[in-house]
Amino acid sequence: MECFDVLIIGGGVIGNAVARELMRYKLRLGLLEKEPDVGTGASGRNTGMLHAGFSYAPGSLRAKLCVEANAEFDRVARELDVPFRRTGKLVVGFTEEDRARLLHYKAIGEQNGVPGLEMIDRKRMDAIEPAAGGNFAMYSPSSGILNPFLYTIALAENAHANGAEYFLEHEVLDSRHEGRVRRVVTTRGDFLARWVINCAGLHSGRVSAMLGLPGHTIGGFKGEYFVLDKRAGEGVNIPIYPPPRPDGGFPTHATPTIDGNMLVGPNSLWTDDLTDYTVTRASLAELIEDGGKMFSRMKPEYFIRNFAGIRPKRMDPATRRPLDFLIETRDDAPGIVNLVGIESPGLTSALAVARMAVRLLATREPLEKNPLFTPLRKGILRFADQDETTRRRLIEENPDYGEIICRCECVTRAEILAAIRNPLEVATVNGVKNRTRAMMGRCQGGYCQTRITEMIMEECGKAPTEVLLGKPGSTLFTGRVRP
Ligand SMILES: Cc1cc2nc3c(=O)[nH]c(=O)nc-3n(C[C@H](O)[C@H](O)[C@H](O)COP(=O)(O)OP(=O)(O)OC[C@H]3O[C@@H](n4cnc5c(N)ncnc54)[C@H](O)[C@@H]3O)c2cc1C
Repeated sequence: MECFDVLIIGGGVIGNAVARELMRYKLRLGLLEKEPDVGTGASGRNTGMLHAGFSYAPGSLRAKLCVEANAEFDRVARELDVPFRRTGKLVVGFTEEDRARLLHYKAIGEQNGVPGLEMIDRKRMDAIEPAAGGNFAMYSPSSGILNPFLYTIALAENAHANGAEYFLEHEVLDSRHEGRVRRVVTTRGDFLARWVINCAGLHSGRVSAMLGLPGHTIGGFKGEYFVLDKRAGEGVNIPIYPPPRPDGGFPTHATPTIDGNMLVGPNSLWTDDLTDYTVTRASLAELIEDGGKMFSRMKPEYFIRNFAGIRPKRMDPATRRPLDFLIETRDDAPGIVNLVGIESPGLTSALAVARMAVRLLATREPLEKNPLFTPLRKGILRFADQDETTRRRLIEENPDYGEIICRCECVTRAEILAAIRNPLEVATVNGVKNRTRAMMGRCQGGYCQTRITEMIMEECGKAPTEVLLGKPGSTLFTGRVRP
């Protein structure tokens, strides 16, 4: 059995950011992910905000790494060719109590090094976003929005292009020392490595115990969302948030997505079941009421979908108080870098978290630079975003651009094929969806999902019963009803 220098457990935004940062060095690296694609855990179930960092305790890793990663994101988005807009954010207030809370967070933000925070009145709010509720607001110019699927996929593809090896549908079950290396036991065979990095998100407590570091409690803090049609998002350019709770989290907020929809949510509920992504009627009623206070276009006719995510909160087992990110190497656990409880703002902070993990590894073992590393990656060109002249040229060069498969989002056959031929060799329907936006529009795939499934079958030589929607076992067909 060949031995890897480094094995990463978990293909969320954190595992992929660590993989990308490690490929700057000469290493043989493998990433083990239990699902058939990257970014299907918390990394694909969040608000997609690039947080500024004004609501985290000064001196905490959450604050420090968020501010560091926020500042570099324009460059990162260009390098990885992922859509990103530095929209700013309005945190609105209604009462004098709210004003005191906002001023408190403004002071915290300034302590954390967040640039440009200011209190603004209703007149200024109207100039920025008339659809925002509230009588005054704190304006945060460094906040932004990104597509969390595309960012995670881009990190993975860039790591892969630089030599990282991806092992999807490989769930890690156990691990033990074997001389100077570690054996990692997965559902599809064993791996050996000199270093193992725990990036297992919600399951980072369990994986930490497998690696000989027990005792971490992960609390699941579930949040449900509504996705509103693009008609609701028309002209809304800035996320609108209510005042943060005393714990630094935000109640229901309204966030435009980078593609022009609106997200309303998440609410916040503790859950013991870290796999429970159900959406409930009670939460949806709460979202409608709370969301309506923030955003005047919160109308039922705009709802197109709902979904849930679970934040992995590392908890003090005695007091149940949430703790900061844990990123550590330890003398009593050689060959392990342990990342536990990377909750919000983990999407924002991913590359800063990754650099810290790499620095810790490098203090234990010198790393040799990889002169061939490239930080650049190209995404799938979006036909819908092109002007008429470019569209015409694309169709002339490749007639597959002339065939629209997803009518709601204007996604062409050429883009669907590019997604099916992705470098990580992901062959699920959701894999195409997250790479192209096909099936994310008003009809939610009612028109194009069958076409796309057929294209996956043709391109990948799969039988109908072999095509997965997303998760292992999520087959779409049980067989043919007609010969
Ligand atoms: C509702 C919600 C809203 C949020 N909003 C924001 C936001 O707007 N901005 C922001 O910055 N952050 C936000 N966050 C936080 C952010 O999404 C997370 O911090 C980040 O995605 C964590 O990434 P991760 O890679 O650690 O975890 P994950 O994305 O969960 O990845 C962990 C991966 O490990 C895999 N795995 C687990 N166990 C095993 C095993 N045994 N073997 C193999 N693989 C395994 C899982 O399948 C998963 O793919 C939000 C989170 C939630 C839930």
